[in-house]
Amino acid sequence: MARAAALFSGGLDSSLAILTILKQGIEVKALKFLTPFDCDICHIRLHLYVSPSPTPPIKGGDNAPQPPLNLRGGEGGVMFPSPLAGEGKGEGYHIFSVAERFGFEVKLIDLSDKFIKIVKNPKFGYGKNMNPCIDCRILMLKEAKAVMNMIRADFIITGEVLSQRPMSQRRDTFNLIDREAGVTGYVLRPLSAKLLKITFPESKGIINREMLYGLSGRLRKPQMALAEELGLTDYPAPAGGCLLTEPNYAHRLKDLLTYNPAPSMRDIDLLRIGRHFRFSPSCKIIVGRNKDENETIASLSVNGDYLLKIDGYGSPTTLVTGEITDETISVAASLCARYSDAKNLFEAEAIVINWDNTFRLRISPAGSEIVEALRIEKLKNEKIAKA
Ligand code: SF4
Repeated sequence: MARAAALFSGGLDSSLAILTILKQGIEVKALKFLTPFDCDICHIRLHLYVSPSPTPPIKGGDNAPQPPLNLRGGEGGVMFPSPLAGEGKGEGYHIFSVAERFGFEVKLIDLSDKFIKIVKNPKFGYGKNMNPCIDCRILMLKEAKAVMNMIRADFIITGEVLSQRPMSQRRDTFNLIDREAGVTGYVLRPLSAKLLKITFPESKGIINREMLYGLSGRLRKPQMALAEELGLTDYPAPAGGCLLTEPNYAHRLKDLLTYNPAPSMRDIDLLRIGRHFRFSPSCKIIVGRNKDENETIASLSVNGDYLLKIDGYGSPTTLVTGEITDETISVAASLCARYSDAKNLFEAEAIVINWDNTFRLRISPAGSEIVEALRIEKLKNEKIAKA
């Protein structure tokens, strides 16, 4: 039986591409790449790492030592647990529910380290914010090529739709991406195939080109109609891209890379939560915005950090990390008070925890001038420059 390796985000387009190929009797092994910048993926990555008996995704892609392959059926490769399936429709739900329902396997591949490298210095530049879409697709196809060879697949499929995105989904960009990844002729884009050059699996008769589609453009209606036709009833709302396409997130990341060119994964994971303040080149303050963020902030704290809360009032958890002085603690406490239920008091008491040392501090809630001076937030019309 012919076999395809599929780039699979869990979204509508990549699901449809897989179903289109399954319909032709081709076996599909879906690849879900994990990066710290995807709304869904990062949570899966965190979940796997903090799970009591985690099944970690493959680390580092093709050049890193790999465990023996075991694609659920036991051919050798990493298998792909469905850690979040059955936990409601949160992160990861769609990835595993569609795979289970339509009978294909999903392989998780952690691309974090490689991805961070291209984010810092993309060969083909950024999109509107810090999204290096062309480099990202090249990286994913390179990884898919390695898996294709490893599992002896015949070709690769993606859910890309011609002209859906201005940077990475143009005809000339498809050619460039395939060439740079060394997979020219081996990447079938089933949703737009009829508008694109014939690929190897089509010319060899592995795939019937007549059963592929000629979709293009940004409208989602044709995909929704196709989903109905193929029996795909439950899929996530279309997303505009990963976190790197969000101006404020991109601004925070740029700040981080400016002051810390080699951030830890924890530093990057923190970017997605809380209000961020730059106290000094070597020190940041992060204030939670809700219960979940407060818990995550506390769970991501490490030895050397300080955690603060306002005593006796509803209060955010506030993290101080980096080179910390008495002044930093006092500013962090005042910011913590500003976002607490004690914000209108003249003075409040902060509980400050430094690993196994706890003390208290009386402070006044921070004024707007402190917030404006320290908050890491994209200003209107500010352009994101290369980090
Ligand atoms: S938005 Fe761009 S950089 Fe982000 S995951 Fe998609 S292709 Fe990659």
